[in-house]
Amino acid sequence: MEGARRGLPSLIISSLFAQERDDGKERIASGITELVGWTPLIELKQIMRKDGIDVRLVGKIESYQPLCSVKDRSALRMIEDAEEKGLITPGITTLVEPTSGNLGIGLTYIAVQKDPKLGFQGLLDRVKQLKENIPNAHVLDQFANAANPEAHFTGTGPEIWKDTAGKVDIFVCGSGSGGTITGVGKYLKIKKPSVKIICVEPAESAVISGGNPGSHNIQGIGPGFIPKNLDTAYIDEAIAVSTAEAMTHARRLAKEEGLLVGISSGANLAACLKVAGRQENRGKMIVTMFPSGGERYISTELFDSVREECINMTF
Ligand code: PMP
Repeated sequence: MEGARRGLPSLIISSLFAQERDDGKERIASGITELVGWTPLIELKQIMRKDGIDVRLVGKIESYQPLCSVKDRSALRMIEDAEEKGLITPGITTLVEPTSGNLGIGLTYIAVQKDPKLGFQGLLDRVKQLKENIPNAHVLDQFANAANPEAHFTGTGPEIWKDTAGKVDIFVCGSGSGGTITGVGKYLKIKKPSVKIICVEPAESAVISGGNPGSHNIQGIGPGFIPKNLDTAYIDEAIAVSTAEAMTHARRLAKEEGLLVGISSGANLAACLKVAGRQENRGKMIVTMFPSGGERYISTELFDSVREECINMTF
C-alpha cells in the first residue's frame, strides 16, 4: 500500500515485459552485445484513432538497442562474422566503413567492447583511400556483407513474427544498405507467403522505383544506388516519400504517440498511412520499423520549429 501510494507498483505492473521476471533469477548482461535485439512493438492507437484508420498499425522501436538504432544488430553480426572468419583481430585491425552514422556508432561501441582500434569515414571514396593507407584495415561493407541481412533474418524477422503472434500482414520498411528489409522480408515470406513487403525510399532519390539519384534529408535510407544487400525479389512494392513528409510524420509520432524517433521513422509512418488507406488492406496488420531515436537529429531541420520556439521564448 505504501508503495502503491508512491506509484511504484502500478508502474511495474503496467510494464508488459516485467510480469514474468519475478522468478528470482539474475538478469544482468555481461556486456552491451548481450543487449542487442528484442526491441518492443507498439500499436499507434492515437494516430489510428485520429485518422480513422481501419488497420492495426504497429511500430518496432529500435532506439531500445544499446546504441539506440537498428544498426546495432548489423554491427554485432558483421563484427562477429569477421572474427569467426579470422578477418579481423582485436587490438590490431582498424575497421573502416561508409556509414550515415548509426552503423558507425554501433560498430564503434561494440568494437570497443571487443578491443579493436577503430576508425571510419562517411564517404565511400575515403574508405578506399583509408583501406590503402591504414595498416591492417578491414572494410566490413554493410552494402554487400551477407552478415548484415542475416542479422535481420535471424533477429528482427523472428522477433516481429513472434511478437505479433504471426498476425503481421504487411511489412513497411525504408532501405539504406537493404539489410533490414531483405532479412525481415525473407523471413516473413517463408513463414507466411501472403505477407506483403513494401520498401520506402526518398521521393527525391527514388532509384528503386526507377528514378534518378538525388539529394534528400532522410538520413539512413536512399543511398542513391541499389546495394547488393537489397534483394528486390522480396519486395512487392516501393513507395516514395518526400523529406518534407518524413519530417511531418516524425513530428506526428512525437506529438501524438510520445515517440521521439528519427526522420526515417517518419518516412516509414508516411508510407504506412498511404498503404493503410487502401480498401484491400482493411483489418490488416501493418508492421513498420522506427530505426532510430529522435535525439540524434537535434541539429537537423526535424527540430527547426523547436529551435525557433526556444529562440523566441522570453523568460
Ligand atoms: N534508418 C536509419 C536511421 C538508419 O540509420 C538506417 C541504416 N543506414 C536505415 C534506416 C536503413 O537500414 P538498412 O541499412 O538496414 O537498410
